[in-house]
Amino acid sequence: MATNRTFTMIKPEAVAAGSMGKILDMIMDNGFRVVAMKYTRLSRQEAGTFYAVHKERPFYGELVEYMASGPIVAAILEGDNAVQRFRDLIGATDPTQAAEGTIRKRFAESKAKNAVHGSDSDENAAIEGAFFFSGREQF
Ligand code: GDP
Repeated sequence: MATNRTFTMIKPEAVAAGSMGKILDMIMDNGFRVVAMKYTRLSRQEAGTFYAVHKERPFYGELVEYMASGPIVAAILEGDNAVQRFRDLIGATDPTQAAEGTIRKRFAESKAKNAVHGSDSDENAAIEGAFFFSGREQF
């Protein structure tokens, strides 16, 4: 199986709830290697740009406000079949639909405040990783 990369954020409400360490433990226990990581906060403008693909969706404004509402952890992760395996680890968007043992099942508050982001394709993983990290910040 190919080793490749995905991109994740631990979202503001999960950081505020003090769940950052527990979520990182789950990620690393599941065989993902950290390539790059930072604790940071998005401005509204940055959150709007990051989520521009969702501009036409009715919740776009809410999503931007939420993602700019407090600090986050952004990271690039590496592992076998990283995008799909990480989507499996985080679980469904809506935590009521997420499988037992997934990060969203354990930590998400709601479909909107769902604890973590995970890229949905190799192409988006590369774009999202480059949004936060220069080449020299990736190890
Ligand atoms: P994901 O790929 O599982 O993160 O889900 P999507 O790409 O469909 O949505 C992106 C993000 O938008 C989700 O992770 C949620 O934080 C947020 N979101 C999705 N659906 C809703 C909704 O109905 N209302 C609000 N406020 N936010 C939503």
